[in-house]
Amino acid sequence: MVRPNQEPVYIGLGSNVGDRQLHIDHALDLLAEIVTIRMISSIYETDPVGYKMQAPFLNGVVEIRTMISPHDLFRKLQEIEIEVGRQPRFRWGPREIDLDILIYGDRIIDTPNLTIPHPEIHQRGFVLIPLCEIAANIIHPVLQKEIQYFRCSEPMQIKRVG
Ligand code: ADP
Ligand code: MG
Repeated sequence: MVRPNQEPVYIGLGSNVGDRQLHIDHALDLLAEIVTIRMISSIYETDPVGYKMQAPFLNGVVEIRTMISPHDLFRKLQEIEIEVGRQPRFRWGPREIDLDILIYGDRIIDTPNLTIPHPEIHQRGFVLIPLCEIAANIIHPVLQKEIQYFRCSEPMQIKRVG
């Protein structure tokens, strides 16, 4: 049940190993068991950023509502990643599924294992484009600008697939 005091929370999903769409669908099913899913963006095929010698990703963003605290939600997302089949690899490497907390209401958290808002939201097209689709007008709690202020246009290397 969604209570009025529940803040909008945005989760980024990504996959570039195996059946990418299946992994994203599986993660959404598991997520729906513990939170309320309010909106799902389109899914985009995106070129890898950072470590480029890997397969293209599918990426999307969902808006959820939950009473689960940010740190507990982070732990639950890690459990879902494992259940979907994420294998341990190097940072920024290929992954069956990646679930990141992008924004949790207007909260600002900066701990060694959890930073909210996710520090790279405003620089990553593969996050911004799906996020803009469902949350263009929310204010980035640290940068104090609407999400649409950043880069919401669709560059060549990001293609909507579904
Ligand atoms: P990526 O940064 O590419 O998502 P990983 O999924 O391997 O790489 O995550 C690396 C680390 O990022 C995690 O161990 C986690 O502690 C940390 N992290 C910090 N802030 C967040 C956040 N908001 N959501 C998810 N992970 C986060
Ligand atoms: Mg991650």
